[in-house]
Amino acid sequence: MNAIIDLPKDNLNKSGKNIPIYKERGQREVFCGLTGIIWLHRKIQDAFFLVVGSRTCAHLVQSAAGVMIFAEPRFATAIIDDRDLAGLADAHEELDRVVKALLARRPDIKMLFLVGSCPSEVIKLDLSRAAQRLNKEFVSKCRILSYSGSGIETTFTQGEDACLASLINDAPKQTNTKDKNLLIVGCLPDVVEDQFKRLFTELGIESVSFFPPKNSQQSIDIHSNTQYLLAQPFLAETARLIEERGAKRIAAPFPFGIEGTTSWLKAAANLWGISPNHFEAVTKGKIERAKKSLARYLPILESKSISFFPDSQLEIPLARFLSRECGMKVLEIGTPYLHKHHLEAELELLPEYARIVEGQDVEKQLDRCRSDKPDIVVCGLGLANPLEAEGITTKWSIELVFSPVHGYEQAADLAELFARPLNRSIRLAA
Ligand code: SF4
Repeated sequence: MNAIIDLPKDNLNKSGKNIPIYKERGQREVFCGLTGIIWLHRKIQDAFFLVVGSRTCAHLVQSAAGVMIFAEPRFATAIIDDRDLAGLADAHEELDRVVKALLARRPDIKMLFLVGSCPSEVIKLDLSRAAQRLNKEFVSKCRILSYSGSGIETTFTQGEDACLASLINDAPKQTNTKDKNLLIVGCLPDVVEDQFKRLFTELGIESVSFFPPKNSQQSIDIHSNTQYLLAQPFLAETARLIEERGAKRIAAPFPFGIEGTTSWLKAAANLWGISPNHFEAVTKGKIERAKKSLARYLPILESKSISFFPDSQLEIPLARFLSRECGMKVLEIGTPYLHKHHLEAELELLPEYARIVEGQDVEKQLDRCRSDKPDIVVCGLGLANPLEAEGITTKWSIELVFSPVHGYEQAADLAELFARPLNRSIRLAA
């Protein structure tokens, strides 16, 4: 590796492997949290997301979810126009008018999220106050919540964290002692949720629920006897609020790839006292099938080098999967934020030579990338085209959040997401 290292060393030394974690502060290239609406509206099936933002916000959400133009939409933008920005109109009155018109036309909406944006934050429109006011008016018809999806100091996956945090804040506190239950936290595609549900049942863990629920009317079971497993590594605030209610996190790697999925399931199985023999009996066939499917992509991935630009916050678990199960050489793992407790088990599994960088100074990172010359770079949409123009193969990080990639049955699909662009570059070069 011959990259220019000019990063201040902040050795967190948490992994026991003495891997330095550099911190970088500078210009960043990330998407905003509005992007999360695309997968959140698919998950919570009776919810509506009303972005309070500009035409830019409307274009972002609409273009990211272009397929929805043919269906009854479950998201929209209340446009803040020049009169609002100039303070000539009362933005609260305008918002009330839009919400009333929407709920009169769409009585099927049972939960409405008012989603803040950069413009709504700039004019200091207090959406939590608006939600409280509107809740009084629509009591028993529709729950109205708010969260921020703005691009000011956020990454795109923080939109999900903020949305789930608003759901926890809205859920009634449970004070009675209840039986032990397992909560899986983080949006998973329905197909993956069903696979995990079957696996937990086969293991003998019956009291399992998924958060967020598919239906907004479903209660959220969080109390002092709740054990929770994070399905996504970007839910710091949600996890904090869950723990405030007495629940305990089960420390584990994330369920990406075969190893991650096995460790994740095993961490819960151990707490539920499931015997190692039974665990093996349930998982063995699935692991073998997953290994067979994954083997198809190993010839293209093995020994290839990869660098991550900070974007989705999935970078560390993905780097672990690609290095340990696909034989890739991870040069740099850039991540916007690194929650060292949630990622402790992942950091243990990373190769010692990997350069981990939290935060971003995009020009410096581009210099390091050009110097490293990785075979493939994982980055946001804004950097992908310029890097491709320089002859560097890229993978859009946002695709890794849109696609079903968790669990045994998706391990090969996850590998394919990296194999496809590499294959394409090899063919183009031939
Ligand atoms: Fe752009 Fe901010 Fe709107 Fe996101 S929230 S689309 S970053 S203006």
